Amino acid sequence: MYRGLVEKLVRKNDSRILLAVIDGLGDISIKELGGRTPLEAALTPEMDRLAAGGVLGMHIPVARGITPGSGPAHLGIFGYDPVTYQVGRGVLAALGVGFKLKHGDLAARINFCTVNDSGMVTDRRAGRISTEKCVELVGMLTDIRIEGIETFVIPVKQHRACVVFRGEDLSDDIQDTDPGLTGQRPVQVTGSSESRRIVREFQEKAGEILKDRKPANFILLRGFALHREFPSIEERFGLTAAVVALYPMYRGVAGLVGMNIMKCLTEDISGQEKAVKKALDNGHDFVFLHHKPADSAGEDGNVQAKIRAIEEFDRALPSFLDFGFDVVCITGDHSTPCAMKLHSWHSVPVLIHGGPQRWGCSTAFSEKQALSGALGSFMSTDIVPLLLASAGKLAKFGA
Ligand code: ZN
Repeated sequence: MYRGLVEKLVRKNDSRILLAVIDGLGDISIKELGGRTPLEAALTPEMDRLAAGGVLGMHIPVARGITPGSGPAHLGIFGYDPVTYQVGRGVLAALGVGFKLKHGDLAARINFCTVNDSGMVTDRRAGRISTEKCVELVGMLTDIRIEGIETFVIPVKQHRACVVFRGEDLSDDIQDTDPGLTGQRPVQVTGSSESRRIVREFQEKAGEILKDRKPANFILLRGFALHREFPSIEERFGLTAAVVALYPMYRGVAGLVGMNIMKCLTEDISGQEKAVKKALDNGHDFVFLHHKPADSAGEDGNVQAKIRAIEEFDRALPSFLDFGFDVVCITGDHSTPCAMKLHSWHSVPVLIHGGPQRWGCSTAFSEKQALSGALGSFMSTDIVPLLLASAGKLAKFGA
């Protein structure tokens, strides 16, 4: 698509859009289901009703044959070309815990780990220490001072934390120190650049502080990434957007495009319902709702669990719809086929309901119906323009 065209045509109105993402929704034909997919086997009366009154299609997350991570896959469905707008894991981790990154910050993920007396990693997750323990250890690391820069260490969950270095002209050309295997030493950060010197010093000082704190007596650093500010979804598409997600990474990637992060008071669907209501009460006209369990089931290769996760979402759907959205889109960020236990490149079913549509082509929400749906196959970055058009938020091009 011609870049900047949609942005030029955006006009504001009061229409409200729900973008619900069932993570890892897409799947492939499964023998034990008689060639059906989990979405096809699941009982989904609510989504089927929306499919009959709306339109279906298939989105391609990044490009044909490309398997995306969840970060780039989400950027695509937010209308940001994931190849142009690249984000590292460290940045996602920091944004996910609500850390306010500044342009040029260098972020990385921390794993507390166990090393033996000869410096070999014996457990890359330090026995999955409790989150309370993680908070305590992070408290000790926040005392680390490195000349010329500011250092922030933030706990995430269990053995995971993240670190942000703030200074002049930092670079993310740094390899993971996590060897990826036990029985090996952490990878040395070599080289003379300022950023490498900083990381080396941080790791040494952390090792000194933690050396008697078995099992978490060392740290591994991964996913070094510089934060680069993106134009916001408000600037580009005129949307006042909110994210309602239970997992930090998805709040992070949504925060990156300027969505407001809504707090969920309980970490379940009812907490998400209240957060969606609050987002609308606060004047948002675009809500991104994230549902994780289908992806986890796909990665476990658990067909029945994936079916249950999709059915759980379908049962909860009416309570979200009751808040009064004008346009509703339900899709996944990518496929996570149970047979592969991994993300994949396969296209992902999309359902759009509301606004003027060529409805009547489908009777149920499924991969096979989406393949012959009214919307056809399109790039994930076309989803937002289709939603804007459906909601009457795009003017005509030319006279
Ligand atoms: Zn995902």
